[in-house]
Amino acid sequence: MNLIIFGPPGAGKGTQAKILVEQRGYVQLSTGDMLRSARESGSPLGKKVADIMDRGDLVSDEIVVELIESELDAHKGAEGFIFDGFPRTPAQAEALDGLLARHDTEIDLVIRLAVEDEEELIRRIHQRAAEEGRADDSEEILRNRLANYRAQTEALLPYYESQGKVRSVDGLKDIKDVSRSIADILDAEKENEVSPRS
Ligand code: AMP
Repeated sequence: MNLIIFGPPGAGKGTQAKILVEQRGYVQLSTGDMLRSARESGSPLGKKVADIMDRGDLVSDEIVVELIESELDAHKGAEGFIFDGFPRTPAQAEALDGLLARHDTEIDLVIRLAVEDEEELIRRIHQRAAEEGRADDSEEILRNRLANYRAQTEALLPYYESQGKVRSVDGLKDIKDVSRSIADILDAEKENEVSPRS
């Protein structure tokens, strides 16, 4: 089962992805985490993306697609993948389809964590900044990240909706309720796989 966990910054994608890793043994592929660890390691890639990330802008499609490609190769035979923070642009979505096709697989579901209330997202990000000290969690940068999400990433929903793959979950509920809703969706999907409608 390959999932995209989809939603604005602060919606809880990473938190829910980690719960799915624990519960189902899927591999979480978070381009944000990969880029942060590239920065921490001081690699050329990390240096290249630092300013872009600090502004809350998107790094190039080429860079993130390459990261995803090598992680897919590194985890051949995985039970499933959870794409977290990727794809974020139409070009990334297209590239992902191509990469998965090469591995004889595809995206099964897009779990959308719906949070329309921007002030709530900002409140959550403030909390995360206090807990984790992420450099890109200041309010000004967050507003830019939200603007980028609305301008570039949200446009992916119709693409996946037209394939019947999007399931929405109310991202304003608490973490446990959200993860229970996601579990129900995945279980229902598995049942459909076992006994497809005739
Ligand atoms: P995230 O932790 O997913 O919010 O990502 C943190 C930052 O990394 C983003 O604000 C972008 O600068 C960069 N980033 C992460 N994933 C992507 C992606 N798929 N495409 C472009 N930039 C990304």
